[in-house]
Order: sequence, then structure tokens, then C-alpha cells
Amino acid sequence: MVSSIAEFVKQVRMEKMDVLEHTAQIFDEIESNSELNHFNVVAKEQAMQQANEIAAGIKIGRHEGKLLGVPISVKDCVCVKGMESRAGSKILSGYKPTFNATVIEKVLVEGAIIIGKTAQDEFGFGTFGTNANIGFEAPKNPLDQDRACGGSSAGSAGFTALTKFTHASIAQSTGGSIASPASFCGVAGFTPTYGLVSRYGLIDYGNSLDKIGTIGKTVEDASLLLGIISGHDPQDSTSLEERFEEKGEAKKIGIVKELFEKSDDKVSKECKKALGKLEAKGFELKEISLPLNSEYGIAAYYLISMTEASTNLARFCGMRYGLHKELEGHFDEYFSSVRSDGFGTEAKRRVLLGTFARMSGFRDAYYLRAMKTRTKLINEFKNAFKEVDVLAHPTMPVIAPKFSEIEKLTPMQNYAMDLCTVPANLAGLPHISVRAGEVNKMPVGLMLTAGHLRENILSSIALEVEGAQ
Ligand code: GLN
Repeated sequence: MVSSIAEFVKQVRMEKMDVLEHTAQIFDEIESNSELNHFNVVAKEQAMQQANEIAAGIKIGRHEGKLLGVPISVKDCVCVKGMESRAGSKILSGYKPTFNATVIEKVLVEGAIIIGKTAQDEFGFGTFGTNANIGFEAPKNPLDQDRACGGSSAGSAGFTALTKFTHASIAQSTGGSIASPASFCGVAGFTPTYGLVSRYGLIDYGNSLDKIGTIGKTVEDASLLLGIISGHDPQDSTSLEERFEEKGEAKKIGIVKELFEKSDDKVSKECKKALGKLEAKGFELKEISLPLNSEYGIAAYYLISMTEASTNLARFCGMRYGLHKELEGHFDEYFSSVRSDGFGTEAKRRVLLGTFARMSGFRDAYYLRAMKTRTKLINEFKNAFKEVDVLAHPTMPVIAPKFSEIEKLTPMQNYAMDLCTVPANLAGLPHISVRAGEVNKMPVGLMLTAGHLRENILSSIALEVEGAQ
């Protein structure tokens, strides 16, 4: 049994756990599983140096820190000082930030050891981890290597599921990138309320949607890490004053009718079974209908996220960060040449579609309409939360698909897989994916969503789901 983070830290403080040895062992494990492609950067040297400093501190009685000696991996899109941070894109090759993201500062203060940057779909554009750019390979699911980890925080979830050591990961979601891989890999993925965790130092995908969150082996680990990275940051103007600290109580769970109906039967059945166990423990279940979110969530999400992405990616032109070339020709030619080489297929598709959706002449029909729809979807959630505390449905409509199955999907079929995860993300609502059962020996995730800043009740209910397994 892997110790929980809290237990591990206790052991470290009592000097029953050797931080240096634990860190060295996790790197042996990463190296012997390198063919699973979970990491874009393995930061062994820096981590061992950090481990040495922590071990020396412990010897002289420096025992403070909620993550004392805990190995933490970080999704590639979160900036770590001096560590190549590419968000899975060739266009950021060689980019080493000169600063830490706020979340990194927060975990370092608590004594965490940063072990590397985890693999992801380029800039977060994907659901399976398979939209890896040139020079990157798609991460493999440790439970069945013919299957994907989910995405876009693929490496974070894949490695969390694989490791035999105490560890958690800092991940990121725009439209489901924490929940999807957590579900496919059978681990806990916690996405906070928009603004609860600072985005300072995050390589943006869509600013009105992006959240940094956590992936842990258990709900307890994912919750602990989320509590640590939450809280106000003056460097992020959308950052809230609140923190997530306490556990909360809730009794009423809404079963989202449409999302159960649209998911694979076996997956829905497993989720219902898990909810049945909660009912037996005294929770009240009630069917809730979210017709607008189920029907228009995908369309609104992809229009808004691509529009935002297309403006965010404009800065990558071979002048400031990462990939550079010999300066030649007109500046337009230079930019086109760098961007043609540096972006992968999906990034190019999103730049084109996003630019189209916000062009004058089209923005009223696409982008602005999607924004109006977003307001309606948020209102639908608000009404639902008048009736129940938490909403529940399968995180993903299927179990982790095989790479051979993903290859056959058209872009539209690919996007449709996000049916269950995009609504909560559009509304900036906190959600957690927790393992709820299995189909064909692969894990099934149950997604729980609560009202803004009600992370505490999510954590408590997810613990119940996990405990009933
Ligand atoms: N699959 C979604 C997309 O491709 C969500 C990805 C994410 O949350 N970064 O946009």
C-alpha cells in the first residue's frame, strides 16, 4: 500500500521515511517505465538536490511543511523555473521560464519535491493525450498499454496510477482535462472553482475556462494538494479571496438524466451502482434534467475555447519564446514558417476555427452566440443547485479507448467525448472525478459537481464513493 501524503509526511517527520531514498526510487520507477511516455521532462538532478536539502534540514529539526519530501509532478503547461516548459508543443522548444508559477511556489514552501513535467495534448487541445506534437509521444495507460490515459493531463494521471510511491500531480483543465484522464486511469482528479487557484504562470489555453487543479491516487491526496495551492494571488486578477480547507456536509445528490442516457450502458450502470451505495448510507438521490447543457455544452465550449485559444497562440511567432529560426523574408513569412513548423495539426485546426468564429461578420453568429448560450447553461446549473447539493454522472461516456479506436474518430466525434465534462467547466464549477467501479477491468469514473466554492462537499462525498468501493 502506498502511504497517503499525510501519512508519508508524518513518517518523514519521525525520520522513519528516508526522503533521499524515496526520491531516488521514484526516479528508478520513472526510468524503467519511460516507454509509457508520462514525462516530457524528468528533473532528476534538480529533484535530488532538493531532496538533499530537505534531508539535511530534517536532520537539524526542520520538520515543517505539509508536503515535506513529497514528490510532485507538474503538467507541462505550468511554468517551473529553469525547467523546460513547453505545454506539449514544439513551438516552445527550449523555453525555460525564469520564474515559478504561483502554485509551484506554494508547494515548494510546503517542502514538495518537483520531479518533472508531465506529458499532455499540445496546449491542452485533446481528450486522450494523443494530440501530442512532433517530438512527443502519446502517453500510455498503465492499466492497459494499448489504451490512452485520457487528456489532456495525460501524463499526470497515467503516472499517478502507475507509481508505487507517494506522489500527486498538479494538473490543469479547460474543459475536462483533469477529470477525463483521472477517470480513464482510475485516480482522483479535482478541478476547483474558476479563480480558486491562481493561474499565474500557466501557459494559457482559454483564459475564461482554465483552472489549475490536482490529481492524486486518492481523494484525500488530491484534496490536500488542492487546499495547498488554493488561495488569493495578487498576480492573477481573476483570483478569488477564498481557500479550500474544510470538509463539508451534503445530503442531496442529483443524478443527471441526459448524461447517464448518453453514456455507454455499462459505464452508466457502474456509476448507478456506486450511487446506490451512497443511498444505502443515507444520501438522498434525485433525478435532475440538464437539457440545455447536454444539448449545447459541446458547441458552446468548442466555440469559446477555440476563440480564446486562437488569440492566446498569437504570441508564439518565433520572436519571444521557444522556437526561433533564421530571420528571413517579410515578417508574415517568418511567422508563418515558424508557426507551420511549431504547431501540430490540432493546434492549427483550432487557430483557424477560433479565428473564424471571432472574425467580424461571423462573431455575432458564432462567438457571441456561444457566450449567450454559456449564460443560459450557467443558469440551468443554478436552478439545479436549488434542488440538490451535488450533481453526479459518469465522468466520461466510455472507458479508456484503445489507440486504434481513437485513430478512427473524426474531430467532431473526438469533441463529442467531452459531453459530460464541458458543462461544469463552462460554468466554472468545481468538480471531482472519483473511481466508481470498472468495466472490462478498466476503471470507470464518477463525476461530482457542486456550486461555486463548495469544494468541501465534493471532497466529502467523493471520499464516501471511494470508501464504498
Ligand atoms: N478535451 C477538451 C479540449 O480539447 C478539454 C481539454 C482541456 O481541458 N484542456 O478542449
